[in-house]
Amino acid sequence: MKANKLPIFKTKLEEIRSSLVGDVEKVIKSSQKDMSAPAPDITDGAAQAYNLQLMLELGEQDWQKLKKVEDALNKIKTGHYGICSECEQPIPEARLEVVPFAEYCVGCMNDIEKEAQSHP
Ligand SMILES: [Zn+2]
Repeated sequence: MKANKLPIFKTKLEEIRSSLVGDVEKVIKSSQKDMSAPAPDITDGAAQAYNLQLMLELGEQDWQKLKKVEDALNKIKTGHYGICSECEQPIPEARLEVVPFAEYCVGCMNDIEKEAQSHP
């Protein structure tokens, strides 16, 4: 992937993250009106409690999606973004444009899905 494409995907990922977390953060903040600390990352304990509440508010599916989005953002930082976690080949940009948080290339994704279906 060309380095100048990365900021585009980073922006997309950040947009997905705020669309997932945005509403939930409002709910969490309004339920913690007496807590003066707005940032979740002051202490590990606070961050854990925050994550737990986030998980409960989001539900399983959105939580998994959020994790993938955050993984992808971390990969951008470490320079591993757009690499398939299975075969370590670059994931086509066309796929990343549809699913910016894709972990696998299409071939591996199909294999994994087949595998999952054959072992219910
Ligand atoms: Zn692959």
